[in-house]
Amino acid sequence: MPTSTVENYLKAIWSLQGQREGDYLVPVGQVAEKIAVTPGTATTMMNQLLKKGLVAYTPRKGVRLSEAGRKAALLVLRRHRLVEAFLVEVMKLDWAEVHEDAEVLEHVISDRLLARMDEMLNHPTHDPHGAPIPNAEGELTPDGTAVLADCSAGDYTLQRVQEHPPSFLQWLAELGLMPGTGLTVTHRNLEAGTLTLKLPNRADPVQISLLAARSLLVVLP
Ligand SMILES: [Zn+2]
Repeated sequence: MPTSTVENYLKAIWSLQGQREGDYLVPVGQVAEKIAVTPGTATTMMNQLLKKGLVAYTPRKGVRLSEAGRKAALLVLRRHRLVEAFLVEVMKLDWAEVHEDAEVLEHVISDRLLARMDEMLNHPTHDPHGAPIPNAEGELTPDGTAVLADCSAGDYTLQRVQEHPPSFLQWLAELGLMPGTGLTVTHRNLEAGTLTLKLPNRADPVQISLLAARSLLVVLP
């Protein structure tokens, strides 16, 4: 089983690769920045990951996950998201306060406990922040979402919150903006960097920054 350090590198490369397929290489400097280590430390790790067959790595060009690396990254993500769902649904913790615990537990939880959690939750497809949970084979079905900041005027349903610092999630909850909430974009002001929204339980329109809206993923209702 990979160490938690290896798992965090795989997760970082996976998120930096994003939707880009094919032979796109993530600069190792970006990986170092994401994990908060020096470029030298990250480069040493790239060689180790390469030896384990988890990445394709070309010095001075960058790195991408191999099939085995991608599967390992998605299985960490599965543990993270199932743990978050368990902490909220079963242990009744607030959705704003489960991420940090999940960051720790994702590396230590046994397959047996995870399978039991999955069963107790009745095999959830999404975590409390609306992110899809990869299946036990390490496969992830894309959910066809768009970034709210890029959306023009119209009706949408909030599907997922991408970044989840507690204060940001608490603010969203106060607005009543949770996964599953319907919303209307009434105005997108690129000069001011704001988005005006009509929310179901608010009489007055609400303005949020385009920066905040970058973390919100929506689908058409
Ligand atoms: Zn999380």
